[in-house]
Amino acid sequence: MCSKHGPNEVNGARPQPRRWSISRRLTVLYVGSSLLMVLSASMYLYGSLVGNLEREDNAFLGNKIQDCRRVLRERPEDTRLLANEIQVEAATSQFIKYYVRLLDERGQVVLETPGMTRFLPMAVFPQAIATSGVPARGKMWKSSTRTSYLLMSARAQVNRRAMGWRLLQVALDVSDDEALIAGYRRKSLEVVVLCLLFSAMAGVFIARKGLQSVEEIARVTEHITASQLHERIVANGWPEELASLARSFDRMLDRLEDSFKRLAQFSADLAHELRTPVNNLRGEAGVALSQSRTTEEYRRTLESSLEEYARLARLIDNLLFLARADSPAAEIKRTACDARESIEVVRAFYEALAEERQVQVWCEGQGAIEADPMLLRQAVSNLLSNALNYSQSGGRVLIQARQLADQGLEILVSDTGCGIPAEHVPRIFDRLYRVSPARSQGPNGAGLGLAIVKSIMTLHGGSVEVESEVGKGSRFTLRFPSAQSNV
Ligand code: ADP
Repeated sequence: MCSKHGPNEVNGARPQPRRWSISRRLTVLYVGSSLLMVLSASMYLYGSLVGNLEREDNAFLGNKIQDCRRVLRERPEDTRLLANEIQVEAATSQFIKYYVRLLDERGQVVLETPGMTRFLPMAVFPQAIATSGVPARGKMWKSSTRTSYLLMSARAQVNRRAMGWRLLQVALDVSDDEALIAGYRRKSLEVVVLCLLFSAMAGVFIARKGLQSVEEIARVTEHITASQLHERIVANGWPEELASLARSFDRMLDRLEDSFKRLAQFSADLAHELRTPVNNLRGEAGVALSQSRTTEEYRRTLESSLEEYARLARLIDNLLFLARADSPAAEIKRTACDARESIEVVRAFYEALAEERQVQVWCEGQGAIEADPMLLRQAVSNLLSNALNYSQSGGRVLIQARQLADQGLEILVSDTGCGIPAEHVPRIFDRLYRVSPARSQGPNGAGLGLAIVKSIMTLHGGSVEVESEVGKGSRFTLRFPSAQSNV
């Protein structure tokens, strides 16, 4: 049946909002931080420029007031000097346009820079500061002709008592300063816009270049399927962070490839392992049915079939055990186990086989551990069974229990058998792996015994190790950690 729903809606989940790509985020961050930097720098410079100009203009007017005060104080009768200061110098100053007006106590103009009354009425000036006050900050004023002035007024003491005091009104044309500030503002804005464009382009370029390696990882992973596990990311010349990510990814692929190979090998081995008894059963049944047989012959056929069924059942049981042990929910029932007692029980079980093989088995040592007693015996049993199977008559097998300093336990099973060739040692714990099926003399012989031992040790949080020398024998070590270290 066809569904009209999208995959998200089918699961009842809301469609996810579109997320920003890393390159977009990086670009926005890059542009944002550049903008912040350029804006702060421009604002700082702009503030300094305006502040400096203001300071200079105020200082200029302040100095003018102080000059005039000095003349009035020291040479009040020298009207020529005062006129020169107010009318000539102010009017003829080429670069700085300033104006001075001198008023008497009644507010009558005594002297002023020519033309001042036309665009600077007396009323627009701020309140005059006292004769002892030092002028610091003037008032900004814009005339009807859009010209900006900085205005100051101050009283000045005249040295003659009869003459009392005078009022000074000074003005500075600051239109040039304002034009300069406006120009600076415009240029700063242009610089900010240009920086914004440039940093956006640089951000896109840098983000794309930086993420090329990530895209390469994505490209390679897109192609990886179960049959393409040999693909690897070549991280030459990459930045270290991404190169280490690529290396980790490659190592993960190594492990996956190895697991897939083992899985494929396991499936092939399993098919082979099942095919043999099934073919035997079919063959025996076919022969029995090809002509009429005596009851005795049918009985023999059934007896031999039973052996095959038992072999199949054991194989299936072992596979089931491994499958259950692999399950994440697998649990074991730990109880206090006496190691010596457990290994003696196993030895007793194999006594008849040991006698038959003419192999001497003895136990040594003591120890106790919290473990699943059935599984512990199963592990020792598999090792002892192998030791007997791969030993010649006259051989010796030693099972030792050792309590470890951290309250863990070691059980060692050493034999004087045929040993394992070094190239097979790393694989003997794999499922269905046999060094050479011809050498296997045991009843199980399917290559699952050691895989089960390994699973049992993993369930206990322990490990199994082997040392072996061809022609001299093998030593398997089961290491059970203490119950505390498993908590
Ligand atoms: P099998 O049922 O074939 O014995 P195992 O998983 O128990 O399977 O062992 C895997 C292989 O390891 C065996 O085929 C055998 O060649 C080798 N092996 C195991 N134990 C010994 C041993 N004590 N001495 C020599 N070879 C051994």
